[in-house]
Amino acid sequence: MPKMREKSHGCDERGRVIAYFGSTVSVETPDQGVVTCHWRRNQCLPVVGDYVGFTREATGEGGVIHEILPRKTVLMRAQGRTAMKPIAANLDCLVIVMVPPPVFSQALVDSYAVAAELLGIQPILVLNKGDLMRAAERLAFESVLSVYRGVPYPVLFTSTKTGEGMAELEALLADHTVALVGPSGVGKSSLIQCLSKEESIRVGDVTEKGIGKHTTTATRLYTLAHGGALIDSPGVREFQLWPVTKGEVLRGFPEFKPYLTGCQFRDCSHAIEPGCAVQAALADGKISAHRYKTFQALMQQAHKKKP
Ligand code: GDP
Ligand code: ZN
Repeated sequence: MPKMREKSHGCDERGRVIAYFGSTVSVETPDQGVVTCHWRRNQCLPVVGDYVGFTREATGEGGVIHEILPRKTVLMRAQGRTAMKPIAANLDCLVIVMVPPPVFSQALVDSYAVAAELLGIQPILVLNKGDLMRAAERLAFESVLSVYRGVPYPVLFTSTKTGEGMAELEALLADHTVALVGPSGVGKSSLIQCLSKEESIRVGDVTEKGIGKHTTTATRLYTLAHGGALIDSPGVREFQLWPVTKGEVLRGFPEFKPYLTGCQFRDCSHAIEPGCAVQAALADGKISAHRYKTFQALMQQAHKKKP
């Protein structure tokens, strides 16, 4: 009589990497099983969020990854001066978490947004701790936020204390793979807890099976309560814009795009040249002065780093 388990031995199975532990990964199968997988030394490293093909080992205990399916996007982290290390794959949205002024930093939001644009990931701006802001303060802050609404990026206020904006955020993130970035203390852990309540139980299960060593440093993928997935780790949270080229800076500001072909000089740096369409748009109020300031600062850094 054939044994049921043997059916899967040697078969090609598909799954998604939900945790990374350095020498192994946890792969979740479509039936929500979790298989500890190794990979071959000559293979590209799997990262959390990857969709992989794997083969179960004869013992039925673990598996070996033989294929990483093409990545839609990759979140990279600078390693040393020149190398980039992938830390998460197939992200759709980068949630930039900030809190109201005085902590709020427009330059930091811009730098995350540029990074997201370059990686092909949708930036979403979340102002957490909305409960700490009075109505009048919010109204005054709207002029800053309208800059981002105009790009256009989704912008919303949330509060993990009152629940404000949480349904809206859940709806925005539903069925997407997302990561939260932002300074320490803005409420990322609190937001993650609200967004993926049930999932902490499942991660607990994984840990019990002995897979989850170094749980605090490992990158993990949590299933969102309303569909979709969230990737988190200290590495993901430390994500920041890497040294970019001038061309990358230009691509990082999508609202500038309509003007880039209108300049008098083909190699216009959009700084001091006559006949610059970007500066004209700035003078007309079509481009935000704040965004242009960040743009110039990034262009100057790019000039220094990559002549
Ligand atoms: P993280 O460092 O970004 O992960 O931030 P945490 O989630 O650890 O939150 C930092 C502090 O802010 C904690 O004391 C939270 O209780 C608090 N906090 C988180 N969300 C909110 C919020 O919406 N409103 C208020 N008033 N405090 C919050
Ligand atoms: Zn120009």
